[in-house]
Amino acid sequence: MSYSINITKVEKSGVDQLDFDNIPLGTTFTDHMFVCDYENGVWVNPRIEPLRPVPTHPAAMALHYGQAIFEGMKAYKDPEGTPMLFRPEQNAARMNKSADRMGMPLFPEELFVEGLRELVSIERNWIPPQQGSALYLRPFMYADEPFIGMRAATHFKFIIMASPAGPFFSKPIKLWAENFFIRAAQGGTGEAKAAGNYAAAIRPTELAKSKGYDQVLWLDADEHMFIQEVGTMNIFFKINGEFITPELDGSVLHGITRASVIELLRDMGYKVTERKITILEIREASKNGELEEAFGTGTAVGIAYIQEIGMEGDTIHVSTENPVGVKVNDTLNAIKTGLIEDKFGWMRKVQ
Ligand code: PMP
Repeated sequence: MSYSINITKVEKSGVDQLDFDNIPLGTTFTDHMFVCDYENGVWVNPRIEPLRPVPTHPAAMALHYGQAIFEGMKAYKDPEGTPMLFRPEQNAARMNKSADRMGMPLFPEELFVEGLRELVSIERNWIPPQQGSALYLRPFMYADEPFIGMRAATHFKFIIMASPAGPFFSKPIKLWAENFFIRAAQGGTGEAKAAGNYAAAIRPTELAKSKGYDQVLWLDADEHMFIQEVGTMNIFFKINGEFITPELDGSVLHGITRASVIELLRDMGYKVTERKITILEIREASKNGELEEAFGTGTAVGIAYIQEIGMEGDTIHVSTENPVGVKVNDTLNAIKTGLIEDKFGWMRKVQ
């Protein structure tokens, strides 16, 4: 099905004012946004228009009851300068998984991808050319119906914004294994990319930072023992030559980088197991010299190497060398920027 997207362009692009060698993080936005409204049970009026503040009624339900979800992904350029998206269908599907959990309407997945393509095509001059840089894309949906009362909203907005992002130098990180606060519980909203999940993570992250750590290592809600994920990344451990990552048990976000890294590692000949894994097992492996590598995976940074995990009464030391992690990161970046063959069929060119 082909959608007709109404396009209104700015008179003059703001891209000339951007210093591509010095892009401020998360505060610069491109000229346009993609917008679509949900009313009377259908998504209507898909359009691209100049980015500007969206008027919000103080009773907009997202502000009170939190029906708000989002996605995060990046557009890159290949050596010929053609913009490319990394696995956008996966983001479209995950957005709908989130929507379903949060009692929100599904968004047509073809329109999600079409909207991204149109926006990226119009904003192609905003994709930073430097290796490691990209145009960050933020699709999101929220309830903008003015209503005081607890029920699903009937009016929503779906918007895609874009923000250029400079190269990210991933320095090794220190994690705090959090044994009081939790991110997600069985039956909760951990699998949804729901705004409220991130709000609930802010205070524990601040506390971990005040203790000298970079990110929180989230543990399960019942026993504070089973590892879920780290900050806003999934996590991998290499123990005795085998890669282990927590299984998708309902409380872990289905990371698209995670799924891709599993495929890449298997393609490189490594055994990858998705299973339950405890913090005690990691401590044991570290003490026995069997913990060879550990890294987080996510759209923002690609791969983040983990050098240390602090836990109540102990510190787990992880190797400072990450030969496989570095190889996976390099391969992933090379695929995303068209420097090597996309043998997995992940990239979508934008004409
Ligand atoms: N876990 C959480 C909680 C996240 O917010 C993210 C970022 N979307 C990830 C994991 C990594 O997911 P992805 O690889 O799709 O970016």
